[in-house]
Amino acid sequence: MIELDGSLGEGGGQILRSALSLAMVTGKPFRISRIRAGRPRPGLLRQHLTAVQAAAAVCGGTVQGAELGSVALEFTPGPVRAGDYSFAVGSAGSCTLVLQTVLPALLQASAPSTLELSGGTHNPFAPPAHFLQRSFLPLLARMGAQVDIEIVRCGFYPAGGGALRVRVSPCAALAPLELMQRGALVRLHAESLVAGVPAQVARRELAAVQAALGLADEALAVRELPQNQGPGNALLITCEHEHLSEMVSAFGERGVSAEKVAAQAVRKMQAYMQSGAAVGEHLADQLLLPLALAGSGSFATTAPSQHTLTNAEVIARFLPVDFRFEALPAGATVVRALTRP
Ligand code: AMP
Repeated sequence: MIELDGSLGEGGGQILRSALSLAMVTGKPFRISRIRAGRPRPGLLRQHLTAVQAAAAVCGGTVQGAELGSVALEFTPGPVRAGDYSFAVGSAGSCTLVLQTVLPALLQASAPSTLELSGGTHNPFAPPAHFLQRSFLPLLARMGAQVDIEIVRCGFYPAGGGALRVRVSPCAALAPLELMQRGALVRLHAESLVAGVPAQVARRELAAVQAALGLADEALAVRELPQNQGPGNALLITCEHEHLSEMVSAFGERGVSAEKVAAQAVRKMQAYMQSGAAVGEHLADQLLLPLALAGSGSFATTAPSQHTLTNAEVIARFLPVDFRFEALPAGATVVRALTRP
């Protein structure tokens, strides 16, 4: 039984989600205490509880402590089963994080699977569904895994109600990924999603992004979603380079001006552009698990976040894989997955 302390390092939900993914793919049970001790509302929120239930469903696992607010949990996995699954977060909690929890296991299943997921699709502190489509999944595809996400409906905080339809094809073994350079810039573009929020808000956000990043009119898009998908507003800036796409996001909030939302997203994109690193902060922590499953691989990123360092520690508890972080000049880091002899 692997014992984990949920307050380790970054102390968030990722420790639990990674442990669930790893338990499913290795067949190793785990016990975790102090779940999300580093967060203002510790314990299982709906998103985490749904991830636990999804993991249990996908592998016929048994769980103790799967309740809202629970700060301790024991999970014993069974064999992973491909199938047609449906999981509802039941709040605006992120359904993309639920997807990331069960994805590694479903890739190792013997047949294709489909998932219908509902909840939040565009949340702060979670990968927006478009980020998975444009940034994360294309890299997984390069490693040999075919996963398609259809955004059926967007879901924002606080109403939720978003829906994703996902198709997962099995992949017997992920191939290592080497991603040291981003390559030449192909396209930089911004879009503002508005649902039940005036289109003028989106236009103001995009005007501010255009002024700051010098984008052409063709690189800006207002996406007006049906009113009943809101209220919600997400500003997405995507940069496509030869070897990967990265995306930053910011979210409209009551009382926060469109220009302020734009400034947040612009700051993140400028930081990524100026860093010169191939992989941005969020993508970095999300790539560790696929790299570990491949048994090797490396990428260049900025200084590793707490999410990345903590995730590396959790992975090393389940798999015979260690991560090396080699600091380069100007704050760059090479992350390398190495299988223990
Ligand atoms: P946790 O905070 O432990 O629940 O983990 C949150 C996860 O969401 C981490 O994998 C983050 O990298 C990821 N994440 C948070 N914000 C973003 C964002 N704006 N874009 C992409 N991924 C994100």
